[in-house]
Amino acid sequence: MYFCAMQFSRVVGQQMLKEHFIKEINSDKIGHAKLFFGQEGYGTLALALAYVQYLFCKNRSPYDSCGTCDACIKMKSLQHPDLHFSYPTVLAEAKIAKNILPQWREKIFESPYFDIRQWTHHIDPKGRTPAIGTDESMEIIKSLSLKPYERGGYKIMLIWCIELMNKTSANQLLKILEEPPAKTIFILICSNPEYLLSTILSRTQLTRIPRISSEDMGNYLQDTYHIPSDQLSSITLRAEGNLIRANELSDHTQQNTNSEWFIELMRVSYAKNIPLMIDWAEKLGSQTKEQQTSFLHYALHLLRQSLLKNYTSNELLRISEYEADFLNNFARFVTGKNILDFHELFNKAYLYIERNCNPKIIFTDVCFNVMRYLRK
Ligand SMILES: [Zn+2]
Repeated sequence: MYFCAMQFSRVVGQQMLKEHFIKEINSDKIGHAKLFFGQEGYGTLALALAYVQYLFCKNRSPYDSCGTCDACIKMKSLQHPDLHFSYPTVLAEAKIAKNILPQWREKIFESPYFDIRQWTHHIDPKGRTPAIGTDESMEIIKSLSLKPYERGGYKIMLIWCIELMNKTSANQLLKILEEPPAKTIFILICSNPEYLLSTILSRTQLTRIPRISSEDMGNYLQDTYHIPSDQLSSITLRAEGNLIRANELSDHTQQNTNSEWFIELMRVSYAKNIPLMIDWAEKLGSQTKEQQTSFLHYALHLLRQSLLKNYTSNELLRISEYEADFLNNFARFVTGKNILDFHELFNKAYLYIERNCNPKIIFTDVCFNVMRYLRK
């Protein structure tokens, strides 16, 4: 997926919110501090960017920004001088957001749907926890003291992951939220408002960004990936309205392969066919680490679904038709007697793979234990 512009049309789903925002901007009754909250994968950042572009656009239609005026062009390269960004940084490397602005732009160009885990991965190979520190809150105040570049226009301060702002910084921010400079709009983005100071919450206009509807998600997946429709519905269900999760799940070849590997594992272990079990373990052992962990994740999911199938109505299941066919015969082998064993087995294997233990040994162990547990 590549986002070349930040228009509303590029934001997946969320039609009602888009209409609401457009109406608000055209009415010119814009609150000076907004808080968008919801999971990153629902599109909080994408919506905020589309909102800003619409606000700055000089040739708005009733549906979207034009995409071609000079303000839109500046937004396209994330270089609009009246849009200021703030976001968490690894403080040991960069105390203020501006120092890693190229990386921020790069990440958004890739896709404005990313979460803090992916952002951390992008900026720090060591994976240290990022934060918004006091130097950054000083920087926020400093950049807002400047006159807007466009005469009479708005200045926007977009703060992503504000829940990672430390308390001292949040208190500094509070002062400016209480007495904001003229024509300044704060757009705060947060995945969990519970972590915010209540004083900040009380000074912002809250907008809850809901999950992307199944229909919109299904359409997006169909347009973006070429996945068979039964797998598409399984991914849509499991993504739970979160586009980041849906993208992760959509590596369709991996998905297909995961089900095949899972079915093969159960078949050979149930038959106690030791040569084939060893073959299976060798095959899995020679895959990449990402494929191996993806498979283990998938196995845990399908085992849980099997148990659900046994104990609840089918409506609770999050599986494709293809998987459902397999579970029709297989689910009865997963019961209260062995589910904890299975769970522990696959979780441990996951942990060992993450720690770079010998994968062939791990998968051989998986095979032999599955053989035992299936007979419990
Ligand atoms: Zn425009």
